[in-house]
Amino acid sequence: GDRDSALRLPMRPLGDTGLEVSVLGFGASPLGGTFGAVDEAAGIDAVHHAFRRGINFFDTSPYYGLTKSETVLGRALRDLPRSEVVLSTKVGRYGVDPRDFDFSAKRVTASVAESLERLQVSYIDIIQCHDIEFGNLDQIVHETLPALAALRSRGLIRHVGVTGLPLEAFHYALDRAPPGSVDVVLSYCHYCLNDTTLLGSLPYFRAKGMGIINASPLSMGLLTKGGPPDWHPAPPQLRAAAAAAAAHAATRGWDIASLGLGFSLRQPDVSSTLVGMFTREEVDENTNTALRVLGATEVAADEAQVLAEVADILAPVRDLTWPSGRPLP
Ligand code: NAD
Repeated sequence: GDRDSALRLPMRPLGDTGLEVSVLGFGASPLGGTFGAVDEAAGIDAVHHAFRRGINFFDTSPYYGLTKSETVLGRALRDLPRSEVVLSTKVGRYGVDPRDFDFSAKRVTASVAESLERLQVSYIDIIQCHDIEFGNLDQIVHETLPALAALRSRGLIRHVGVTGLPLEAFHYALDRAPPGSVDVVLSYCHYCLNDTTLLGSLPYFRAKGMGIINASPLSMGLLTKGGPPDWHPAPPQLRAAAAAAAAHAATRGWDIASLGLGFSLRQPDVSSTLVGMFTREEVDENTNTALRVLGATEVAADEAQVLAEVADILAPVRDLTWPSGRPLP
């Protein structure tokens, strides 16, 4: 009834793709064990629960858990209606070492076939070039994107995206990409409490008709009570400031994850915010946060006050990031 629909997550258009995605997306990297061991049944249950709570957008990669995330997500998707799910996976990144990238036409074409098999689907809604700053951007523009366009014309994939950390890499690639060859940009760690540099690129992405995905609103665990995993690339001063912000929020009765996700979700130019999740509890907490912030027209005074205090703590590390990939050509 009407009450139920009022409690559903809002949907937004994904740029010019014609797809509608839930404002909160399910990041499946934790299903691969990226943030600690996972119980496969619990992970599958989290995916089903997310769908029931109105999340229709699921993002994975062959890289997450070295194919495990795709395999587990595929098992979960068997029970969901394919046409109601927007499924995104990636090509080009297959390991942690810089040598584990391969954006050649041959490899990405084979990679899509392998992903279709692991995900147990006949098409993929969005294929993204994974962490383009590690590849040769000119190869991505002139070889990878045309290879993906060929897969699109065969109906195996529907839309194409690029992902990465340095925003300049997106500008380089989009300035040169053949028209119509890129539909979606996935940026991460650049629109969250401690880093809002994505704002500088939003007008450019919008002008290009891109679907804009903001991933890692919790800064890959920095903005959580438990803190980030050991592999987290943040410099020590950023880690320390994030921990101080989390501790301060807690003394004021707030979970930093709820404050942080709420902050990211309030950005209307982002089509979907992708959070990594692998338990039903995280799905519930995060959908509740989305309903709380998007169900209100303004930020409540007490929350605004704590947000301002947290911003003060994070001010010395504002927009501090870390190196990723090769220098631009
Ligand atoms: P994130 O900022 O979403 O943080 C994930 C961590 O926060 C996990 O440890 C998760 O268990 C925990 N978490 C989630 N909800 C929580 C809550 N309510 N309270 C406490 N902890 C909570 O980082 P992420 O997972 O790296 O990013 C989200 C998704 O975006 C990824 O799973 C992936 O799908 C995508 N992503 C893509 C790229 C890329 O393509 N290069 C990069 C980063 C992220």
